[in-house]
Amino acid sequence: MILNVLALPGDGIGVEVTREAVRVLQHVAAKWNHQLNLSEGLLGGIAIHKTGTPFPEETARLAASADATIMGAVGLPEFDNAPPEKRPEKGLLGIRAALGVYANLRPVRAYASQIESSPLKNHLVEGVDMIIVRELTGGIYYGTPRGISGEGAETRAVNTMTYTRSEIERVARMAFQLAGPRRKKVTSVDKSNVLENSQLWRRTVTELSREFPDIELDHMLVDNCAMQLVLNPKRFDIVLTENMFGDILSDEGAVIAGSIGMLPSASIGAQRPSGAWVGLYEPVHGSAPDIAGQNKANPLGAIGSVAAMLAYSFRLKEEAAAVETAIEAVLESGQVTADLRPTGAPATTEQVGRAVCAAIG
Ligand code: NAD
Repeated sequence: MILNVLALPGDGIGVEVTREAVRVLQHVAAKWNHQLNLSEGLLGGIAIHKTGTPFPEETARLAASADATIMGAVGLPEFDNAPPEKRPEKGLLGIRAALGVYANLRPVRAYASQIESSPLKNHLVEGVDMIIVRELTGGIYYGTPRGISGEGAETRAVNTMTYTRSEIERVARMAFQLAGPRRKKVTSVDKSNVLENSQLWRRTVTELSREFPDIELDHMLVDNCAMQLVLNPKRFDIVLTENMFGDILSDEGAVIAGSIGMLPSASIGAQRPSGAWVGLYEPVHGSAPDIAGQNKANPLGAIGSVAAMLAYSFRLKEEAAAVETAIEAVLESGQVTADLRPTGAPATTEQVGRAVCAAIG
């Protein structure tokens, strides 16, 4: 198969973890005889330095012609007080919008060897395996009118939570499709006891569920979901929710797995006729300026994002499973970075990347 992949390392540890993700991708391509056509582009702080803008046109062009994009992270402390248009993070919103990736998938898995790193008790965490599907391009983060007006005690701020039926349907359809090969359970999360927006959400998801009679659907209010994620995380298979609820719940889900450096994510858009999805793959973490350039960042979130890319954008299930199994083997071997608190000397970012390749074989 021909794999046209764009790498956007970005800033800080994004560069280091993307290097290892690419190493693993190259290893997989060589082992399974795929032709990997890899290009590299600028995004974030480095793009501002080199071109004056966080999301250069050349990067948009490269992303449009690639089958899938792997991204590191963006953000440099020197831009912390810059105007919004000149901030590295603007590049993130730019590429997500350009690719039209409307669903953010965050797998949350408890690895047996990492259970001690979770703040929850072992018996609650063991066996957790869910995917949080967050709508990514609608809702209150994008709705208008928005803004702050007026003065003094009458100063007023407005945000608007808005969804159309079609926006809800497309992300819900993805959630039902993802549940098929898994435990066949979708939990749709909303606040329908208070918000009309959530009432439309619930009605639309319920209607769509008739197309998927083998998938069990239940609905949960977001406040209860926040509690159940801690009380009984094993009950969840696919969690489907809107943008802001998903933003909050997915960070709650993140701590279940231990370190933030472990967590992959996939942002998915249109489905091609082959069934493969347009996708943007990135670890959940940021550019971590505190440890950047020290070869000690955990690359497993970025490498897990490669597994997601192989599965969703190339439909290469065997290769994706091999990467996931290798991650598990490396975790069990104890050759891990400092954030996972190894008993011996911590491994470097590069050593972990090479260990994953060795475990793939
Ligand atoms: P961060 O995720 O970069 O770091 C938070 C903490 O986790 C730090 O102590 C860091 O050392 C640690 N950490 C993060 N990733 C790690 C890894 N792979 N291995 C080991 N330790 C890891 O979040 P932050 O400090 O809030 O943000 C730093 C910069 O990153 C900011 O400019 C922010 O805007 C940006 N950011 C970007 C993204 C993205 O590109 N998707 C996401 C979040 C934050």
